[in-house]
Parts: sequence; C-alpha cells; structure tokens
Amino acid sequence: MVSRVIPVKAFDLVVFGGTGDLARRKILPSLFRRFVAGQMPDNAYVIGVARSEFDTNGYQDLVIAALQEFEPELSASGELKSFIKQIQYVQIDAQGDLGWSDLAGIVRKDAIQAFYFSVSPSLFGPLAEKLHQYSISSKSSRIVLEKPFGRDLNSARALNAVLKEHFSEEQIYRIDHYLGKETVQNLMAVRFGNMLFEPLWNSQYIDHIQVTVAESVGVEGRGSYYDQAGAMRDMVQNHLMQLLCLIAMEPPAKFSPDAVRDEKLKVIRALDPINSKDIVRGQYSTVGTEKGYLEAVDNPSSKTESFIALKVQISNWRWAGTPFYLRTGKKLKARCSEIAVVFKETPHSIFGPDAGSHRNALVIRLQPDEGMMMDLTIKEPGPGGMRLIDVPLDMTFAEALGPEIGAVPDAYERLIMDVIRGNQTLFMRGDEVEAAWSWTDPVINQWVSKGTSPVSYDAGSSGPEDSMMLMHRDGRKWREIS
Ligand code: NAP
Repeated sequence: MVSRVIPVKAFDLVVFGGTGDLARRKILPSLFRRFVAGQMPDNAYVIGVARSEFDTNGYQDLVIAALQEFEPELSASGELKSFIKQIQYVQIDAQGDLGWSDLAGIVRKDAIQAFYFSVSPSLFGPLAEKLHQYSISSKSSRIVLEKPFGRDLNSARALNAVLKEHFSEEQIYRIDHYLGKETVQNLMAVRFGNMLFEPLWNSQYIDHIQVTVAESVGVEGRGSYYDQAGAMRDMVQNHLMQLLCLIAMEPPAKFSPDAVRDEKLKVIRALDPINSKDIVRGQYSTVGTEKGYLEAVDNPSSKTESFIALKVQISNWRWAGTPFYLRTGKKLKARCSEIAVVFKETPHSIFGPDAGSHRNALVIRLQPDEGMMMDLTIKEPGPGGMRLIDVPLDMTFAEALGPEIGAVPDAYERLIMDVIRGNQTLFMRGDEVEAAWSWTDPVINQWVSKGTSPVSYDAGSSGPEDSMMLMHRDGRKWREIS
C-alpha cells in the first residue's frame, strides 16, 4: 500500500535558520526519516546555517539532540550515525558578510542546490541578495520559503519583487504544509480519480461545504507574532484558502504544477467579497485558571481574533448558490481539521414526513485520524416501520491501511523531496498568494478602520455562539468539533 521509495539525485540543502524551532522540530526529523526510508542518497548534504557559533561537530550534536527529542524511536537505530555524517554547518549572518565565502566554498555546483529560508521573512530579501552576490546560487537553484508570506497584498508584492530580482518563479517554492498532507492530496485523487463524485461535485447536488480547522491549544509561545496576525492572516489567507481551492477548482487538464495552480487561482479570483454579516470573529476568554487570549499575548487592549468563521460564496457556474463555511480557532474543545461536503436532500421523500431530514456528507478528515467518511442514509435495522438513520461508511486510513500507515511520509518529508525533485505542484505560486491577500485585505482593513472587536468565547468551547448562528440562520449546522 505504501509508495515505492525512489532515491532523489545528489543535493545540497542549505537550511538557513538551521538552529531554529522549525528546523529542529520539522525539517531535520523529516530529512532523517527520508534518509532512513532510503530516499536521501549518500552524496546528499544538509548544511545548517545560523549566526550561532558552532563547528560542524557541535552542530551535529544539536541535530542529534533534536532527533532524539522529536524522532526518538528512529534515533535509537544505527541509522542516526550514518545520517549525521551528511550534516555540516556554516556560521553566517544573513545581514552581514560573516561566513558567506565559506558557504560558497561548500555548496557544490554539480549537485541540486536548495536553500531553505527557515528564518524571519524580513531576512528573505537579504538572503536572496547574498546568495546572488557571492555567486552561490545558479539558475537551477531552488529557494524554499516558510509562511507568513507577507502580511497584506503590498508586503507580499514587495517580497515577490525582491525575490524575483534573483530567482525566477520556477525556482521559488512557497510552502503551505497543508498541501503536503496525505489527505489533502487524497482530496484531488478522490475528486479526479473516481467517476462517482465529479458528476455530483457542483451546486446542483451539493448543499454546502464546511471546513473546520480547530486547535485545542492557545497561542502558546507565539503570542507576540500571533497578536500581529490573527486567525484571518495566520490560517484563512493560506491554509483554509488552499483547502477551499482544492475542493472548488475545475479539473486541471493534467496533474502538472501550472495546470493545478492556474485552476486554484481561478477559484480565488471568483470569490465574492465577504459581507460583514457573514463574518464572526472571536477571542477566547479566561476559564478557571487557564489564561485567556489577552493575558496570553500580554496585550489587554488587543482586538486580534483567535477565532474566525466565514460564509464564502464563489461566483462561477459550478458553485453559484452553494456556500462554503470556513472556521478556525484556538483553544477550542478539540484538535480537529476536516472538510465536510454536505449533499442536498433527495428531491422527494417516499418515506413521508416522519422519515425526517437526511443529507449525505463526504467528510475528509485531516487530523486526528486522517481518513474519509461518507454519511449514508439507511433503514434502521429491526422490525417496525421504515425508519431512516445516517451511518458513516468509514475509511480511516489507519484501519484501512493497517500498520503501514506509520510509513506514510508527513507533509514536510513530501514537500522537501518535491523541492529536490523540482516539482512545484504542491507549492503556492506568487500570483496565488497575492490574489489571496487581495481578497482578505479589504476585510481586515475594515476591521482596523472601524476598530471592531472580536466577541468573546470560552476556552474549550466550540467558538462564539454567533458562529453557530451564522449557520443556523441558513437552516444548517456545523458538525461537532471532536
Ligand atoms: P526561530 O526558532 O526563531 O529560529 C530562527 C532561526 O534564524 C535561528 O536558527 C536563528 O539562529 C536564525 N537567524 C536569525 N537571525 C539570523 C541572521 N541574521 N542570520 C542568520 N541566521 C539568523 O524561528 P522558527 O520558529 O524556526 O521559524 C522560522 C521561520 O519559519 C519563520 O519565518 C516562521 O514564521 C516560520 N514558521 C515556523 C513554524 C514553526 O512551527 N516554528 C511554523 C510555520 C512557519 P541564530 O540566532 O543562531 O542566528
């Protein structure tokens, strides 16, 4: 069931921010897992880069500690010793000249070169400039950028312009790790690989679509960043927008980077401006001894939302009249991300009014327990009248694929290998990012100009009561967050 591992070609992956949280928690463990899986060849090197003073041995110790913390089982295997031989370090200041000549001496011209910018976005421009100035990068090098990609249209445009001074769009890999998730790609497989769904995938048969990305944690250690961003910038503009695009896009002619991204872009451009009555913003409040949002970000007058629910309309032939409801928030009752495609009721019930109201739903769950589920209406078993109940046809991958599910690569593994292979399908193009900001900017600007405050919701709840009303007034309801 699990895909064959095809080793990639020799590469040098330079991780700027190699000592940071993302490198230690995600990038390095992902590379280690690919190494153990046999995908990373012996002549591939990972070069950590940061200002901190380390020699290669010292950095290798940092990597070992990170892998022992975040990949404990695999680290206990003999593979760690071999992997670590492929790790190097260069001390560099992105904003000065320290270390750049050293890096130029290490990065090979005859291997694939990828530069992962796992640093603050304010350093993206200086890094691109220095790579060019020291002739480290070439026309075939790739650069990988983490979110956030700008905080509005102007800053995203400025960032794109700076990067494009030295790199073409084909060299730029903007990561949205949601696109690397197995289930998200499965959404495309289900839609475009089965005859069953695509004929029904439109406003004639689909009542509405709901997308929930709920987190049970609060802002944790990211308070100062988060308070400048909020749920709209941090989650909707990128992750939820990408999910919406994959659900709503037309079938691309082929599964190639630009064909897929062209279709996603058309969806974003077809989004109606959002009406303020279709938006609910929330901020979690203190419950018991748990800190509320204001305390957590240490800003008693903050008007930043930690929750948002939206009703979105796509003005095109396929979706006119079928709303998309999106919600995401922190400190909710459970960690749960899912897409539910809720079909319309049958046009006429032969079972009479007592049979109640029934709608099929295709539920694509991203976390926890990645999988898909189809709610079907069947006869309630047993004697008596014709009573109907809805039961889930469950295809939780862990059950369907057995223990091998553990071997399915996580999002970062897949995305990093795609960078090395030069496949941009699962990365955001510059025009997509800008189009997404053009849609969110007017809404955010209106909150700022009017000084609107989010409504309060209890930590551990399903979000503000108003978000329930957003659905309720349309005769619909959210699925349980569980
Ligand atoms: P972090 O823990 O603060 O790490 C920042 C890294 O950048 C450190 O290695 C730091 O090392 C290095 N650095 C800072 N200034 C530098 C300079 N002038 N020259 C060279 N290196 C410099 O940040 P992070 O959490 O890893 O996040 C990195 C990026 O990924 C950010 O853009 C963040 O928004 C994004 N991101 C992170 C996560 C996450 O889960 N952490 C998730 C999504 C996106 P020195 O101090 O030694 O120089």
